[in-house]
Amino acid sequence: MNILVVEDERNLADAIVRILEGASYNAEAVYDGTSGLRSALSGAYDAVVLDVMLPGMSGYDVVHKMRREGSATPVLLLTARSSTADKVEGLDSGADDYMTKPFEAAELLARLRALTRRRGDVVLDELTFGDIRLDLETHDLSCGESSVHLSGKEFEVMSVLMSSSARVVSKQDLLLKVWGADAEASENSVEAYVSFLRKKLAHVGSAVQITTLRMLGYRLETFER
Ligand code: CA
Repeated sequence: MNILVVEDERNLADAIVRILEGASYNAEAVYDGTSGLRSALSGAYDAVVLDVMLPGMSGYDVVHKMRREGSATPVLLLTARSSTADKVEGLDSGADDYMTKPFEAAELLARLRALTRRRGDVVLDELTFGDIRLDLETHDLSCGESSVHLSGKEFEVMSVLMSSSARVVSKQDLLLKVWGADAEASENSVEAYVSFLRKKLAHVGSAVQITTLRMLGYRLETFER
């Protein structure tokens, strides 16, 4: 699970990253509000730990703009302030939870667990797009009566594309989400798996295709047969 940390006090940001990595999260820190918003909107993160007092743009503004852009990524606000008005402003801006500094590592981890679990409350057993269904248990991709099994990485790439519906997904996003930030994989790996998936979509006779948008990435589209 990938966590974004937005905190301008570098010692604290680095300490939070170490706490998260110690708990087996992938964590990355950025140090100002503008970079925080850009990273949060990249779609590469499962949750954001967000300081309120930031250079560039406040944490409140970051989360407000994230929500306005349609991002539902859970946000845990870190605030040095503890007045009720600040808490209300934080939650009104679209944050999911807040924590007052200073805090214990255990509290940070407990709140993150709650946030990421809450998001998983809706248990889906399949994803659908156009005429295809992807079974999240068996990893079978089906169209009508035809189905084909997807390998581990094929399944993950397809899940990302299908969860993004008809939005464009960049190769970088796919790399981060499927292979993780530190992986040796390259954009060639993404291209290879997209090519396998195209063959499998054709094999089950689907009208759905993975379209390449030059310089941008991939998108699922339905074509008339
Ligand atoms: Ca700060």
